[in-house]
Amino acid sequence: MSARPASDTTHDNAHGNSAVRAQYAQVMTPNYAPMDIIPDRGDGSRLWDCDGNEYLDFAAGIAVSGLGHAHPQLRAALAAQADKLWHVSNLLATAPTVELAQRLCEATFAERVFFANSGADVNEAALKLARRYAHDNFGADKAEIIAFDNAFHGRTLFTVSVGGQPKYSDGFGPKPGAITHLPFNDIAALKNVIGAVAEKTCAVILEPIQGESGVMPAHPDFIRTAAEFCARHDALLIFDEIQTGVGRSGHLYMYQQLDITPDILTTAKGLGGGFPIGAMLTTEKIAQSLSVGAHGSTFGGNPMACAVANAVLEIVNTREMLEAVGQKGAALKRGLIDIGARLSAFAEVRGAGMLLGCELAGAYQNRARDILHAAAARGLLILVAGENVLRIAPALTISEGEIADGLELLAGAIGGID
Ligand code: PLP
Repeated sequence: MSARPASDTTHDNAHGNSAVRAQYAQVMTPNYAPMDIIPDRGDGSRLWDCDGNEYLDFAAGIAVSGLGHAHPQLRAALAAQADKLWHVSNLLATAPTVELAQRLCEATFAERVFFANSGADVNEAALKLARRYAHDNFGADKAEIIAFDNAFHGRTLFTVSVGGQPKYSDGFGPKPGAITHLPFNDIAALKNVIGAVAEKTCAVILEPIQGESGVMPAHPDFIRTAAEFCARHDALLIFDEIQTGVGRSGHLYMYQQLDITPDILTTAKGLGGGFPIGAMLTTEKIAQSLSVGAHGSTFGGNPMACAVANAVLEIVNTREMLEAVGQKGAALKRGLIDIGARLSAFAEVRGAGMLLGCELAGAYQNRARDILHAAAARGLLILVAGENVLRIAPALTISEGEIADGLELLAGAIGGID
Protein backbone atom coordinates (compact mmCIF):
# COMPACT_ATOMS: atom_id res chain seq x y z
CA MET A 1 0.00 0.00 0.00
CA SER A 2 1.22 3.49 -0.73
CA ALA A 3 -0.39 6.83 -0.02
CA ARG A 4 -2.77 6.28 -2.91
CA PRO A 5 -5.95 8.14 -3.86
CA ALA A 6 -9.22 6.41 -2.88
CA SER A 7 -11.61 6.00 -5.79
CA ASP A 8 -14.85 6.67 -3.91
CA THR A 9 -14.32 10.32 -3.03
CA THR A 10 -14.05 13.45 -5.13
CA HIS A 11 -11.64 16.22 -4.18
CA ASP A 12 -11.30 19.73 -5.44
CA ASN A 13 -8.10 21.73 -5.32
CA ALA A 14 -9.55 24.51 -3.15
CA HIS A 15 -10.00 22.01 -0.30
CA GLY A 16 -7.06 19.73 -1.09
CA ASN A 17 -4.01 19.13 1.09
CA SER A 18 -1.89 21.93 -0.33
CA ALA A 19 -4.62 24.59 -0.20
CA VAL A 20 -5.48 23.82 3.43
CA ARG A 21 -1.81 23.61 4.41
CA ALA A 22 -1.05 26.95 2.75
CA GLN A 23 -3.97 28.57 4.56
CA TYR A 24 -2.80 26.99 7.84
CA ALA A 25 0.50 28.83 7.47
CA GLN A 26 -1.40 32.09 7.07
CA VAL A 27 -3.81 31.87 9.99
CA MET A 28 -2.36 29.60 12.67
CA THR A 29 0.25 30.56 15.27
CA PRO A 30 3.55 29.02 14.19
CA ASN A 31 4.12 26.79 17.25
CA TYR A 32 3.38 23.57 15.33
CA ALA A 33 4.91 22.29 12.12
CA PRO A 34 2.30 19.85 10.78
CA MET A 35 3.00 17.65 7.78
CA ASP A 36 1.62 18.41 4.33
CA ILE A 37 -0.97 15.65 4.77
CA ILE A 38 -4.35 17.03 5.88
CA PRO A 39 -6.50 14.19 7.26
CA ASP A 40 -10.12 14.42 6.22
CA ARG A 41 -11.72 11.26 7.62
CA GLY A 42 -10.85 8.08 9.44
CA ASP A 43 -12.16 4.61 10.00
CA GLY A 44 -10.50 2.25 12.48
CA SER A 45 -6.77 2.35 11.78
CA ARG A 46 -7.18 3.97 8.35
CA LEU A 47 -7.11 7.67 7.52
CA TRP A 48 -7.80 9.51 4.27
CA ASP A 49 -6.43 12.96 3.51
CA CYS A 50 -8.03 15.84 1.62
CA ASP A 51 -6.56 14.57 -1.67
CA GLY A 52 -8.10 11.14 -1.03
CA ASN A 53 -4.82 9.38 -0.15
CA GLU A 54 -5.13 6.48 2.30
CA TYR A 55 -2.88 5.91 5.31
CA LEU A 56 -2.42 3.20 7.89
CA ASP A 57 -2.28 4.84 11.29
CA PHE A 58 0.43 3.76 13.76
CA ALA A 59 0.16 7.11 15.57
CA ALA A 60 -3.47 7.25 16.77
CA GLY A 61 -3.35 11.01 17.34
CA ILE A 62 -0.35 10.60 19.71
CA ALA A 63 -1.70 7.63 21.65
CA VAL A 64 -5.20 9.09 21.92
CA SER A 65 -7.52 7.30 19.50
CA GLY A 66 -7.24 3.97 21.31
CA LEU A 67 -10.35 2.58 19.63
CA GLY A 68 -9.35 3.86 16.21
CA HIS A 69 -11.17 6.49 14.22
CA ALA A 70 -14.97 6.80 14.18
CA HIS A 71 -15.63 3.79 16.41
CA PRO A 72 -19.36 3.00 16.05
CA GLN A 73 -20.04 2.79 19.82
CA LEU A 74 -18.28 6.09 20.47
CA ARG A 75 -20.16 7.77 17.64
CA ALA A 76 -23.43 6.42 19.06
CA ALA A 77 -22.59 7.58 22.61
CA LEU A 78 -21.65 11.04 21.35
CA ALA A 79 -24.73 11.37 19.13
CA ALA A 80 -27.09 10.21 21.90
CA GLN A 81 -25.62 12.72 24.35
CA ALA A 82 -25.59 15.48 21.70
CA ASP A 83 -29.34 15.02 21.28
CA LYS A 84 -29.89 15.46 25.03
CA LEU A 85 -27.51 17.88 26.72
CA TRP A 86 -24.15 19.43 25.82
CA HIS A 87 -23.07 21.50 28.77
CA VAL A 88 -24.26 22.92 32.07
CA SER A 89 -20.96 23.71 33.90
CA ASN A 90 -20.06 22.44 37.35
CA LEU A 91 -22.79 24.48 38.93
CA LEU A 92 -24.88 21.41 38.09
CA ALA A 93 -23.94 17.73 38.14
CA THR A 94 -24.88 15.41 35.28
CA ALA A 95 -25.41 11.64 35.21
CA PRO A 96 -22.66 10.83 32.62
CA THR A 97 -20.12 12.65 34.81
CA VAL A 98 -21.05 10.76 37.95
CA GLU A 99 -21.20 7.48 36.03
CA LEU A 100 -17.68 8.01 34.70
CA ALA A 101 -16.31 8.84 38.15
CA GLN A 102 -17.98 5.70 39.51
CA ARG A 103 -16.45 3.58 36.72
CA LEU A 104 -12.97 4.96 37.34
CA CYS A 105 -13.30 4.33 41.09
CA GLU A 106 -14.47 0.76 40.51
CA ALA A 107 -11.67 0.06 38.05
CA THR A 108 -8.79 1.53 40.09
CA PHE A 109 -7.56 2.47 43.58
CA ALA A 110 -9.45 5.76 43.35
CA GLU A 111 -12.15 6.89 45.73
CA ARG A 112 -12.52 10.41 44.31
CA VAL A 113 -12.21 11.87 40.80
CA PHE A 114 -11.67 15.38 39.42
CA PHE A 115 -12.34 16.00 35.72
CA ALA A 116 -10.68 18.50 33.43
CA ASN A 117 -10.01 18.80 29.69
CA SER A 118 -6.48 17.64 28.95
CA GLY A 119 -3.40 16.01 30.36
CA ALA A 120 -1.74 19.26 31.40
CA ASP A 121 -4.97 20.31 33.04
CA VAL A 122 -5.17 17.26 35.31
CA ASN A 123 -1.44 17.31 36.09
CA GLU A 124 -1.86 20.94 37.11
CA ALA A 125 -4.70 19.80 39.39
CA ALA A 126 -2.59 16.94 40.79
CA LEU A 127 0.37 19.21 41.59
CA LYS A 128 -1.89 21.83 43.16
CA LEU A 129 -3.65 19.16 45.20
CA ALA A 130 -0.34 17.72 46.44
CA ARG A 131 0.77 21.16 47.58
CA ARG A 132 -2.58 21.96 49.19
CA TYR A 133 -2.72 18.57 50.96
CA ALA A 134 0.78 19.14 52.39
CA HIS A 135 -0.15 22.70 53.33
CA ASP A 136 -3.29 21.53 55.15
CA ASN A 137 -1.65 18.61 56.93
CA PHE A 138 2.02 19.52 57.43
CA GLY A 139 2.35 23.29 56.98
CA ALA A 140 3.19 25.82 54.28
CA ASP A 141 6.89 24.84 54.02
CA LYS A 142 6.17 21.40 52.64
CA ALA A 143 5.87 22.40 48.97
CA GLU A 144 8.86 20.83 47.18
CA ILE A 145 8.05 18.71 44.13
CA ILE A 146 10.49 16.07 42.93
CA ALA A 147 10.35 15.39 39.20
CA PHE A 148 12.70 13.76 36.69
CA ASP A 149 14.92 14.85 33.83
CA ASN A 150 13.29 14.47 30.42
CA ALA A 151 9.83 14.06 31.93
CA PHE A 152 6.86 15.56 30.12
CA HIS A 153 3.79 16.60 32.07
CA GLY A 154 2.10 19.19 29.83
CA ARG A 155 2.41 22.79 28.67
CA THR A 156 0.98 25.00 31.41
CA LEU A 157 3.70 27.03 33.11
CA PHE A 158 3.57 24.82 36.21
CA THR A 159 3.63 21.55 34.24
CA VAL A 160 6.44 22.59 31.87
CA SER A 161 8.42 23.71 34.91
CA VAL A 162 7.85 20.35 36.62
CA GLY A 163 8.62 18.55 33.35
CA GLY A 164 12.31 17.87 32.91
CA GLN A 165 12.88 19.54 29.53
CA PRO A 166 14.02 23.16 29.92
CA LYS A 167 13.46 23.78 26.17
CA TYR A 168 9.73 23.81 26.98
CA SER A 169 9.95 26.07 30.05
CA ASP A 170 12.75 28.54 29.24
CA GLY A 171 11.89 32.01 28.00
CA PHE A 172 8.49 32.36 29.63
CA GLY A 173 9.57 34.47 32.57
CA PRO A 174 9.93 33.39 36.18
CA LYS A 175 9.14 29.73 36.72
CA PRO A 176 7.27 28.35 39.71
CA GLY A 177 9.82 27.40 42.39
CA ALA A 178 10.37 24.52 44.80
CA ILE A 179 10.86 21.95 42.04
CA THR A 180 13.81 19.53 42.15
CA HIS A 181 14.78 17.53 39.08
CA LEU A 182 16.66 14.26 39.45
CA PRO A 183 18.00 11.88 36.82
CA PHE A 184 15.35 9.37 35.72
CA ASN A 185 15.84 5.76 36.79
CA ASP A 186 18.67 6.80 39.13
CA ILE A 187 17.85 5.05 42.40
CA ALA A 188 20.95 6.41 44.16
CA ALA A 189 20.04 10.02 43.29
CA LEU A 190 16.61 9.54 44.82
CA LYS A 191 18.07 7.89 47.92
CA ASN A 192 20.46 10.85 48.25
CA VAL A 193 17.57 13.25 48.79
CA ILE A 194 17.72 13.55 52.56
CA GLY A 195 17.43 16.15 55.31
CA ALA A 196 15.53 19.38 54.77
CA VAL A 197 14.75 18.81 51.06
CA ALA A 198 13.27 15.39 51.78
CA GLU A 199 11.23 16.72 54.69
CA LYS A 200 9.90 19.59 52.55
CA THR A 201 8.88 17.34 49.65
CA CYS A 202 5.13 17.15 49.11
CA ALA A 203 5.12 15.01 45.95
CA VAL A 204 7.14 12.86 43.57
CA ILE A 205 5.72 12.81 40.04
CA LEU A 206 6.72 10.29 37.39
CA GLU A 207 5.63 8.69 34.14
CA PRO A 208 5.80 4.87 34.30
CA ILE A 209 7.08 5.14 30.72
CA GLN A 210 8.52 8.51 29.71
CA GLY A 211 6.64 8.88 26.44
CA GLU A 212 7.58 12.14 24.77
CA SER A 213 11.29 11.95 25.52
CA GLY A 214 12.01 8.52 24.05
CA VAL A 215 9.60 5.81 25.30
CA MET A 216 11.79 5.10 28.31
CA PRO A 217 10.27 2.72 30.89
CA ALA A 218 10.79 3.46 34.57
CA HIS A 219 12.57 0.54 36.22
CA PRO A 220 10.28 -1.21 38.76
CA ASP A 221 12.97 -0.80 41.47
CA PHE A 222 13.12 2.92 40.70
CA ILE A 223 9.35 3.22 41.09
CA ARG A 224 9.55 1.22 44.33
CA THR A 225 12.26 3.56 45.63
CA ALA A 226 10.05 6.56 44.79
CA ALA A 227 7.12 4.96 46.63
CA GLU A 228 9.31 4.22 49.67
CA PHE A 229 10.63 7.78 49.65
CA CYS A 230 7.07 9.13 49.60
CA ALA A 231 5.94 6.85 52.42
CA ARG A 232 8.95 7.83 54.56
CA HIS A 233 8.55 11.59 54.05
CA ASP A 234 4.76 12.05 53.95
CA ALA A 235 4.92 12.94 50.27
CA LEU A 236 2.38 11.92 47.64
CA LEU A 237 3.32 9.66 44.74
CA ILE A 238 1.78 11.01 41.51
CA PHE A 239 1.64 8.67 38.53
CA ASP A 240 1.27 10.51 35.23
CA GLU A 241 -0.48 7.82 33.15
CA ILE A 242 -1.64 10.24 30.49
CA GLN A 243 0.19 8.34 27.75
CA THR A 244 0.35 4.85 29.32
CA GLY A 245 -3.24 4.71 30.60
CA VAL A 246 -6.57 3.41 29.30
CA GLY A 247 -5.24 0.05 28.19
CA ARG A 248 -2.25 1.16 26.17
CA SER A 249 0.24 -0.79 28.31
CA GLY A 250 -1.90 -3.95 28.24
CA HIS A 251 -3.33 -3.06 31.68
CA LEU A 252 -6.03 -0.47 32.24
CA TYR A 253 -3.37 1.53 34.10
CA MET A 254 0.25 0.53 34.34
CA TYR A 255 0.44 0.78 38.13
CA GLN A 256 -1.84 -2.26 38.20
CA GLN A 257 1.01 -4.49 37.06
CA LEU A 258 3.26 -3.20 39.85
CA ASP A 259 2.91 -3.85 43.57
CA ILE A 260 2.60 -0.09 44.07
CA THR A 261 -0.45 2.12 44.34
CA PRO A 262 -0.01 5.83 43.68
CA ASP A 263 -1.72 8.49 45.79
CA ILE A 264 -2.77 10.43 42.71
CA LEU A 265 -3.03 9.21 39.11
CA THR A 266 -3.64 11.37 36.07
CA THR A 267 -5.24 10.08 32.88
CA ALA A 268 -6.26 11.84 29.66
CA LYS A 269 -5.37 11.07 25.99
CA GLY A 270 -7.06 7.66 25.45
CA LEU A 271 -9.78 8.30 28.02
CA GLY A 272 -11.96 10.19 25.53
CA GLY A 273 -10.86 8.17 22.49
CA GLY A 274 -10.28 11.51 20.70
CA PHE A 275 -12.76 13.65 22.62
CA PRO A 276 -10.91 15.99 25.02
CA ILE A 277 -11.09 14.92 28.66
CA GLY A 278 -8.72 14.34 31.57
CA ALA A 279 -9.24 12.88 35.01
CA MET A 280 -7.31 13.03 38.25
CA LEU A 281 -7.86 10.05 40.52
CA THR A 282 -7.11 10.05 44.24
CA THR A 283 -8.19 8.80 47.64
CA GLU A 284 -10.96 10.06 49.87
CA LYS A 285 -8.47 11.43 52.42
CA ILE A 286 -6.31 13.36 49.97
CA ALA A 287 -9.33 14.66 48.04
CA GLN A 288 -10.52 16.51 51.14
CA SER A 289 -7.94 19.20 50.43
CA LEU A 290 -9.90 20.15 47.32
CA SER A 291 -12.58 21.83 49.39
CA VAL A 292 -15.39 23.82 47.74
CA GLY A 293 -13.87 26.49 45.51
CA ALA A 294 -10.25 25.26 45.87
CA HIS A 295 -9.95 24.29 42.18
CA GLY A 296 -12.21 24.07 39.15
CA SER A 297 -12.82 24.00 35.40
CA THR A 298 -15.77 25.27 33.37
CA PHE A 299 -15.72 22.35 30.94
CA GLY A 300 -14.30 19.63 33.22
CA GLY A 301 -16.74 16.74 33.51
CA ASN A 302 -18.71 18.00 30.52
CA PRO A 303 -21.47 15.44 29.76
CA MET A 304 -20.44 15.04 26.10
CA ALA A 305 -16.86 14.13 27.02
CA CYS A 306 -18.01 11.89 29.87
CA ALA A 307 -20.57 10.06 27.71
CA VAL A 308 -17.81 9.19 25.23
CA ALA A 309 -15.35 8.24 27.99
CA ASN A 310 -17.95 5.94 29.56
CA ALA A 311 -18.23 4.14 26.21
CA VAL A 312 -14.41 3.98 25.91
CA LEU A 313 -14.01 2.39 29.34
CA GLU A 314 -16.84 -0.05 28.73
CA ILE A 315 -14.97 -1.33 25.67
CA VAL A 316 -11.37 -1.11 26.90
CA ASN A 317 -11.76 -2.37 30.45
CA THR A 318 -12.41 -6.00 29.61
CA ARG A 319 -10.05 -8.93 29.99
CA GLU A 320 -10.32 -9.81 26.29
CA MET A 321 -9.39 -6.29 25.16
CA LEU A 322 -6.46 -5.92 27.56
CA GLU A 323 -5.12 -9.39 26.74
CA ALA A 324 -5.42 -8.60 23.03
CA VAL A 325 -3.37 -5.43 23.55
CA GLY A 326 -0.67 -7.53 25.22
CA GLN A 327 -0.67 -10.10 22.40
CA LYS A 328 -0.79 -7.64 19.51
CA GLY A 329 1.77 -5.44 21.25
CA ALA A 330 4.10 -8.44 21.53
CA ALA A 331 3.65 -9.22 17.81
CA LEU A 332 4.33 -5.60 16.95
CA LYS A 333 7.46 -5.60 19.10
CA ARG A 334 8.70 -8.84 17.52
CA GLY A 335 8.17 -7.34 14.08
CA LEU A 336 10.06 -4.18 15.01
CA ILE A 337 12.95 -6.19 16.47
CA ASP A 338 13.05 -8.17 13.23
CA ILE A 339 13.20 -4.97 11.13
CA GLY A 340 15.94 -3.65 13.39
CA ALA A 341 17.96 -6.84 12.95
CA ARG A 342 17.48 -7.00 9.15
CA LEU A 343 18.43 -3.37 8.55
CA SER A 344 20.81 -2.84 11.50
CA ALA A 345 18.52 0.07 12.28
CA PHE A 346 17.72 -0.11 16.00
CA ALA A 347 19.83 -0.13 19.15
CA GLU A 348 16.77 -1.12 21.19
CA VAL A 349 13.03 -1.67 20.92
CA ARG A 350 11.33 -0.88 24.24
CA GLY A 351 8.04 0.01 25.85
CA ALA A 352 4.94 -1.93 26.82
CA GLY A 353 1.79 -3.09 25.05
CA MET A 354 1.01 -0.72 22.21
CA LEU A 355 3.45 2.01 23.24
CA LEU A 356 6.77 1.10 21.68
CA GLY A 357 9.94 3.01 20.93
CA CYS A 358 12.69 2.07 18.48
CA GLU A 359 15.99 3.74 19.31
CA LEU A 360 17.84 4.33 16.06
CA ALA A 361 21.38 3.10 15.53
CA GLY A 362 24.23 3.20 13.05
CA ALA A 363 23.48 4.97 9.78
CA TYR A 364 19.99 5.85 11.01
CA GLN A 365 21.03 7.68 14.16
CA ASN A 366 19.08 10.92 14.71
CA ARG A 367 17.08 10.36 11.53
CA ALA A 368 13.72 9.74 13.17
CA ARG A 369 12.05 12.62 11.35
CA ASP A 370 13.38 11.50 7.94
CA ILE A 371 11.95 8.04 8.59
CA LEU A 372 8.61 9.51 9.68
CA HIS A 373 8.34 11.40 6.38
CA ALA A 374 9.48 8.40 4.34
CA ALA A 375 6.85 6.24 6.05
CA ALA A 376 4.11 8.81 5.40
CA ALA A 377 5.06 8.91 1.72
CA ARG A 378 4.43 5.14 1.64
CA GLY A 379 1.11 5.46 3.44
CA LEU A 380 2.09 4.82 7.07
CA LEU A 381 1.78 7.35 9.88
CA ILE A 382 4.16 6.92 12.82
CA LEU A 383 5.43 9.18 15.63
CA VAL A 384 8.84 10.20 16.84
CA ALA A 385 10.00 10.78 20.42
CA GLY A 386 12.96 13.11 20.02
CA GLU A 387 15.48 12.94 17.18
CA ASN A 388 16.51 9.36 17.71
CA VAL A 389 13.44 7.31 18.60
CA LEU A 390 10.55 6.14 16.42
CA ARG A 391 7.41 5.93 18.54
CA ILE A 392 4.76 3.42 17.54
CA ALA A 393 1.34 3.81 19.18
CA PRO A 394 -1.45 2.39 17.03
CA ALA A 395 -5.09 2.02 18.05
CA LEU A 396 -5.60 -0.83 20.52
CA THR A 397 -8.13 -2.20 18.04
CA ILE A 398 -5.69 -2.49 15.14
CA SER A 399 -5.84 -5.90 13.44
CA GLU A 400 -2.96 -8.35 13.12
CA GLY A 401 -3.13 -7.91 9.36
CA GLU A 402 -2.81 -4.15 9.67
CA ILE A 403 0.15 -4.59 12.03
CA ALA A 404 1.85 -6.81 9.45
CA ASP A 405 1.09 -4.31 6.64
CA GLY A 406 2.40 -1.42 8.72
CA LEU A 407 5.62 -3.26 9.58
CA GLU A 408 6.24 -3.94 5.90
CA LEU A 409 5.69 -0.27 5.05
CA LEU A 410 8.01 0.77 7.87
CA ALA A 411 10.75 -1.60 6.74
CA GLY A 412 10.43 -0.20 3.20
CA ALA A 413 10.59 3.36 4.50
CA ILE A 414 13.68 2.74 6.62
CA GLY A 415 15.42 0.74 3.91
CA GLY A 416 14.55 3.40 1.32
CA ILE A 417 15.93 6.53 2.95
CA ASP A 418 19.25 7.77 1.58
N1 PLP B 1 1.76 13.85 30.49
C1 PLP B 1 2.19 12.97 29.60
C2 PLP B 1 2.91 11.74 30.06
C3 PLP B 1 1.97 13.18 28.24
O1 PLP B 1 2.43 12.30 27.34
C4 PLP B 1 1.29 14.35 27.82
C5 PLP B 1 1.08 14.64 26.39
O2 PLP B 1 1.76 14.17 25.54
C6 PLP B 1 0.85 15.25 28.80
C7 PLP B 1 1.09 14.96 30.12
C8 PLP B 1 0.11 16.49 28.41
O3 PLP B 1 -1.15 16.16 27.92
P1 PLP B 1 -1.97 17.26 27.07
O4 PLP B 1 -1.21 17.49 25.82
O5 PLP B 1 -3.31 16.60 26.86
O6 PLP B 1 -2.07 18.48 27.90
